[in-house]
Amino acid sequence: MSSWVLAAFVLGMPAAFWIGARRADHAMKREREASESARTAALAAVAQLRLLQAHQQALMDSIDDLAWLKDTDCRFMLVNRKFGEVFNLAPESLIGKSDYDLSPPDMAAHYQAHDRMVMTSRQVERTEEEIHRPDGEIGWAETIKVPVFGADGEVVGTAGIARDITLRKRYQREVEFLARHDPLTGLFNRRHLEEQFEPFAARHPRFAALFLDLDNFKLINDTDGHSVGDELLRQLASRLKGEIDRNDLLVRLGGDEFLLLSPLGSDSPEALDHLATRLEGAIGTPYEIGGTKYVVSSSIGIAVHPEHGRDRQTLIKHADIAMYEAKKKGRNRVCWFEEALASETTARRRIELRIRDALKENAFELHYQPVNDARTGRIVGAEALLRLRDAQGSPISPARFIPIAEQTGLIEQVGEWVLDTGLRQLAAWRAEGHLNLRLAINISGTHFGSPRFVERLSSRLRETGVPGNALELELTEGVLMADADGNISTLARIAALGVALAVDDFGTGYSSLAYLKQLPIHRLKIDRSFVQGLPVHPGDIAITRSILHLAQTFGFEVTAEGVETQAQLDFLRDAGCPAVQGYLFSPARAAADFAALLAPEFSA
Ligand SMILES: [Mg+2]
Repeated sequence: MSSWVLAAFVLGMPAAFWIGARRADHAMKREREASESARTAALAAVAQLRLLQAHQQALMDSIDDLAWLKDTDCRFMLVNRKFGEVFNLAPESLIGKSDYDLSPPDMAAHYQAHDRMVMTSRQVERTEEEIHRPDGEIGWAETIKVPVFGADGEVVGTAGIARDITLRKRYQREVEFLARHDPLTGLFNRRHLEEQFEPFAARHPRFAALFLDLDNFKLINDTDGHSVGDELLRQLASRLKGEIDRNDLLVRLGGDEFLLLSPLGSDSPEALDHLATRLEGAIGTPYEIGGTKYVVSSSIGIAVHPEHGRDRQTLIKHADIAMYEAKKKGRNRVCWFEEALASETTARRRIELRIRDALKENAFELHYQPVNDARTGRIVGAEALLRLRDAQGSPISPARFIPIAEQTGLIEQVGEWVLDTGLRQLAAWRAEGHLNLRLAINISGTHFGSPRFVERLSSRLRETGVPGNALELELTEGVLMADADGNISTLARIAALGVALAVDDFGTGYSSLAYLKQLPIHRLKIDRSFVQGLPVHPGDIAITRSILHLAQTFGFEVTAEGVETQAQLDFLRDAGCPAVQGYLFSPARAAADFAALLAPEFSA
C-alpha cells in the first residue's frame, strides 16, 4: 500500500507544478497585452505547460485505479481514463466539475468533507467507502487522498486514487453470511443461535423454543435422492419464514431439525398453540418437486424460557425432549415439555449409552431357550435370546432396551451381532455332533428392512458353514404385514437360502390370510399371552384352537411360547400343538448350560 500512497504523491507533485504554471499563464496573458516582447516567452511557457499536462495525463492513464486531482474548491482538475470509464464520461468533460455532478448529494458531501480534512490535516488519509455507480449499482472503493503542496508549502489541492474493491467486499459479505446461515435454506445456523441466544433472552424475557423435526424426511431422502430432499427443505424453509413474526428467530439446526424462538406475550399458551398449528399446516401442505407430490408431517416440542430452562442448552434439550415425546405418541403432533419427561429421557439415554458400550465391548450375551417336542419332551431346537446387563451387572429387560435400540438406529448393529454370535455358536454345536438342532433368531423390522440384509445373511452362513435349514428367522406379525407386498421378494430370497421363517407373537397383530398363504412362512409361534390363560380361559382356548387349525390348513409348523405349567402342556399336546417352549422345560440359558441339556442321543 505504501507504493500506492507514493503513486498519489507522484501524481500530486506535477499537479503543484501545473497549478503554479497555470497561475503563470494568467499573469503572462496580462503581460502579453502590456509587452509585445514577452509574447515569445509566454508562448514557450504555454507549450511547456501543455507538455507537462500531456505527461501527467499519460501517467494518470497508466493507473488501473480511479485517479484524480482536485483544487482547493474540490473541483476536478484532472481525472484519468479509468475514472471516465467508470462514470461513462469523457475525462476532459469532468474538468471543473465537482462530486455533486457525479454522485447523490449525501455521498458528494461526504467526499468533499473528506477532501477538506486532507487539506486541513495536511496528512495522507485512507478510507473504504461506498460508491454510487452511474448504473445505480452500489460498489465499494478503497481510497487514498494526499494533500498537494505549492512551491511555498501551501496546500493547493488534493490528489486521490480509488481502487474498486466491490468484489472483495462481496466475498467478504458472503463469507460473513455463510458463517451465520445455512447455505441450503438461507436460514440462520446453529452458530448464529449460539451467539444470539443471550441477546434474544435479554430482549424477550419470556419466550418459547419450538423444536421441529420432520417425521418421514429420511425416507424421502433415501428413496428419492438428496436433490429432492434438499429442494423440499428449501421450500419448507421459505414456508416457515412466511409464518413467523419479525421478532422470532428461526434456525436450521441441521438435517431436518429446526428451532424457532418466539417471544411470548400475556396470551401465551393460546397464541403458541395457534403458531404451532400454523407451522404444522405449512409443513404438511404437499410439496411439488419435479412433477411429483411429496407429503411430510412434523413433530413439534415446546419448552418455555425461563420456566423450562434459562440457558440455551437446557431450554433446547427440553424442547427436544418434548419433540421426542411427540414422536413417541405417534408423530405429526405438538407436545409441551414436562419435568417428568426429562427423567425418562435421562434413563433412556443411559440405556442407549449402555447399548453403544456393549457393542464396543462385546458385552451383549446370547442365551438359548430350548424348544421341546410336546409329546416326547425332546429338544428339537432353540431360540436365541439377547441379554444385556447395566454397568452394575443387573439385567436390563429386552422389552426396555430393544425399543431404544430401534429408535436410536442401533438395532441393525445389534441384530448383526446376534446373527453372527448365534451362527457361530450353532456351528460349534454342530461340530460337536448336534446336527439336527435348529436355531431360531429374532430379527427386528429395521434390521430385516436394511439394505443387503439377505446378502449379509448368506455370507454369514457360508463363513460359518451352517446350512440354511438349520436356521429359523423369527419376524413379528407387525413387521411382516406392514409391507407384505414389499417383503415378498426379500422373504423369497431368504427362503431360497433354505432358511425357515417363523411368525413371532402370532395372534397379537393383524394378519391377512391372503398374505399368510402367499408368504414363504414355515412356522407360527403362538404368543405367550394366549398360552397363559390355558386351559381355563375360554377366549384363549378358542384362539389357540383356531391358530392350530389355521396352521394345519396352511401346512405351517407351530410352537407355543411361554408354557409354564403341566396343564398348559397337556392342553396344547392334546390340541395337536407339536412344539412348546417355556419355563416348564427350561428358561433361556447361557451357551454352556444349554449344551449340558443336549442329550447324546440328540446327535445325528
Ligand atoms: Mg421370538
